[in-house]
Amino acid sequence: MVDSILRNVMDGGRVSAAEALELYQHAPTHELGRVADAIRLRKHPNGVVTYIIDRNVNYTNICVARCNFCAFYRQVGSSEGYVLGFEEIFHKIDETIAVGGNQLLLQGGHNPDLPIQWYEDLFRAVKARYPEFKLHALSPPEVLHIAKLNQVPVPAVIQRLVAAGLDSIPGGGAEILVDRVRKLLNCYSKASSDEWIDVMREAHRAGLRTTATMMYGTVETHEERIEHMMRLRDLQDETGGFTAFITWSYQPEHTEHGGFEETGIDYLRTLALSRIVLDNFDNLQASWVTQGGKVGQLSLAYGANDMGSVMIEENVVRAAGASYCMDELEIVVNIEDAGFIPRRRNMHYELLGEPIFRERDVPRMLALATARADGDTSVPEELKNYAARSRQGKQLRLGQ
Ligand code: SF4
Repeated sequence: MVDSILRNVMDGGRVSAAEALELYQHAPTHELGRVADAIRLRKHPNGVVTYIIDRNVNYTNICVARCNFCAFYRQVGSSEGYVLGFEEIFHKIDETIAVGGNQLLLQGGHNPDLPIQWYEDLFRAVKARYPEFKLHALSPPEVLHIAKLNQVPVPAVIQRLVAAGLDSIPGGGAEILVDRVRKLLNCYSKASSDEWIDVMREAHRAGLRTTATMMYGTVETHEERIEHMMRLRDLQDETGGFTAFITWSYQPEHTEHGGFEETGIDYLRTLALSRIVLDNFDNLQASWVTQGGKVGQLSLAYGANDMGSVMIEENVVRAAGASYCMDELEIVVNIEDAGFIPRRRNMHYELLGEPIFRERDVPRMLALATARADGDTSVPEELKNYAARSRQGKQLRLGQ
């Protein structure tokens, strides 16, 4: 059974959910890797492995969603809550540009005190100062949160944010696109599976490209991981709007859900299976941020063709225990040591060139930055321009 399914895949055939499950549960790991690697080679015959230099900025950690797998959020009114000021964000962009970066991955909690105008003003301000700089921002649950908070329909939210400078949407908040799982993780109310898919469909219709993600290893079954992949494959058939797929394992430290992290082998099997199932996705990222550099490097033999982001800053999975950091030099060494050619790219996977440190001097980044210095919860000046929705937010702004 496994052999005939793998032969069919090698001949360019598409797997059904039942066939994917058979492979996931019974195919030897090296066989899954061999086939995933063959598909990667078919799609990327030039031997290039890409990466992007960007910065993952979390504009606020205040969140009303309270997913039980999340160690990052703080409740409204928490003494550890923060919202970044525009100047702080500009400073982070300056630092990103200094090391050759071209984009912010901008995501945050569902903060009831940030109206849509705050996002529009921020995007406009960024584009006015840095016209070429890209904003890969606001995962589908954040778009939904903004839509609900401001009582504006999702397509109109997307239209307004694009007009203000939004370039593309990251695929965060997908977790597992099965409502049984979402309810158990307390993330159903932030976005049901259908809602997540619908936001992505609207974004693709509006001409935006987006990524897709999967966080596995909490409460889901193997069947549900595959159902998640099938939903992404279906939407990709419909719109062709996804540029890449990124999967990572749940990071349990400091979370309400607790539990254990899945193994490296489980990661490699999941990655290889996603390369086989997602036959209409061109790019698969290696999640070295959660798996570490060594498994990240091995991912290149299990279907991945991209090393993701040179992380200058990461707050979300770091809060849950993952603290791996690689700067551009280390990423390039890992890629070359695995026998590939490293190239910088943008969010659309267009090649931008050789490693930047071979073109000019850039400072090395051997530690990850954080959103804010510990203990700094000052409220930025410009928040005074926007009406707060929460009681705590109103009190805070009155007290300023
Ligand atoms: S995962 Fe995102 S939406 Fe869920 S609690 Fe954390 S910050 Fe909020």
